[in-house]
Amino acid sequence: MKVFVDATKCSGYGACAELAPNLFELDEWGYAAVIGDGVPSDEAAARRAAAACPELAITIEE
Ligand code: SF4
Repeated sequence: MKVFVDATKCSGYGACAELAPNLFELDEWGYAAVIGDGVPSDEAAARRAAAACPELAITIEE
């Protein structure tokens, strides 16, 4: 599994970083980026984060 954030869709709500803090980091404006190579250590948390993103900015490649 690999996780991607579409920076053009992210609106900086921060839900992803709250639900999966090991996988997403927020910049100073609250916009998200994937930490490291995007391979999650906790796949369930990654799925919860993707489902919670109000902008559908998170995609998961199985
Ligand atoms: S939940 Fe979605 S919109 Fe919010 S910071 Fe994360 S990627 Fe961006």
